Amino acid sequence: MSDEMWALAFDRSKSDWDKSRGLGKVRVPKPVLDESRNPLDAERVIIKVHYTGFCGSDKGIWNRNAFKDMIFGSLDEEGKDYRVTGHELLGEVAEAGSLAEKHYGFRPGDMVTTESHITCGKCLQCRIGQREVCQNELIIGFSLDGCFAQYIKLPAKVLWKSDPNKIRPEVGAIQEPFGNAVHACTKVDLRGKSLAVFGCGTIGLFTILTARALGVSKIIGVEPKEENARLAERIGADEVIRFEPKDGWRSDPGVVTAVREFGGDGVDVAIEMAGYNSSVNNALRSVRMGGEVVLFGIKTGDFQIERLDRVIVAGVTMYSVIGRRIFETWNISTNLLEARENQIQDRIFDVILDKGKDTVIPITDFDPDDFERRFDAHPKVIIKWI
Ligand SMILES: [Zn+2]
Ligand SMILES: [Zn+2]
Repeated sequence: MSDEMWALAFDRSKSDWDKSRGLGKVRVPKPVLDESRNPLDAERVIIKVHYTGFCGSDKGIWNRNAFKDMIFGSLDEEGKDYRVTGHELLGEVAEAGSLAEKHYGFRPGDMVTTESHITCGKCLQCRIGQREVCQNELIIGFSLDGCFAQYIKLPAKVLWKSDPNKIRPEVGAIQEPFGNAVHACTKVDLRGKSLAVFGCGTIGLFTILTARALGVSKIIGVEPKEENARLAERIGADEVIRFEPKDGWRSDPGVVTAVREFGGDGVDVAIEMAGYNSSVNNALRSVRMGGEVVLFGIKTGDFQIERLDRVIVAGVTMYSVIGRRIFETWNISTNLLEARENQIQDRIFDVILDKGKDTVIPITDFDPDDFERRFDAHPKVIIKWI
């Protein structure tokens, strides 16, 4: 076996972060397990990558508008110049450290996906069952080399088994972002409720599918882009309203009125997946008195809440959701995807991924301009490594 492999990486010795874009398809050393030099490798595995998902965060690296500090800081610590990106994975365990099976139950041949947050296990949050907010987490593809590569080395503790006979591999590779939707939808009780989803991008679409399977009674989507709005309708939103996004932080009275009417006098629950200040205010103004707002969309900077007094007097509850509950969310995600009668898996593949047409790209065909066109045209693209 060659000791080099193909990977998609950012290399700071070759590209100036502020003057470049994209990811280079490059040859890098293949990761190895070497327990004599690094005893922690005993609990690690080498995974042969089959399929990987490309997400909004990867787009942030591609366009150089996010994650610079995390990448450069971790490269300084490792004393190297390139970061292999990617964190949504389906692959096969190719080699396992001597304790990977004994401690975590993984051995060569297992098909796995991975949690992208590597948690420390030692901080207060890890110890009390809130690992999604670990104080010392590392993130695959940002603070250590990721899965846009033929092989990746990972701690066995972050892996999650995925049976390709039950979950097709292209969908198996995107259980990490699907888990964000599952986490958001399980933060509140959706049974029999009316729901508004603000932002019907990839995770907003997953939210519509999940909420439906969990027994929500009716769903309205709010989405500016025509393509996403159409997909939201095709996968089961009862109604989707489109609007012209405006600058500024204030709510959009047209959107708020339409969503409130849909719910009767406001919806029971709003899930905010876009992260714009105005969208957060739309969500807060659209729920009924005593309603709930789940915040997942994220943009850096200060936000203004419109009429906070009214939010308080209306008894509206706000939650924030980050990552996935490890591994509770993964277990629910697996069950939802494997239960074919809810049609989640088929709608992800047939509709959101358009049956793989233009959305599943073999790494051998990788061309930066063509790849960029594809990830701009579709809510999700998948890179095939085998
Ligand atoms: Zn992601
Ligand atoms: Zn921790």
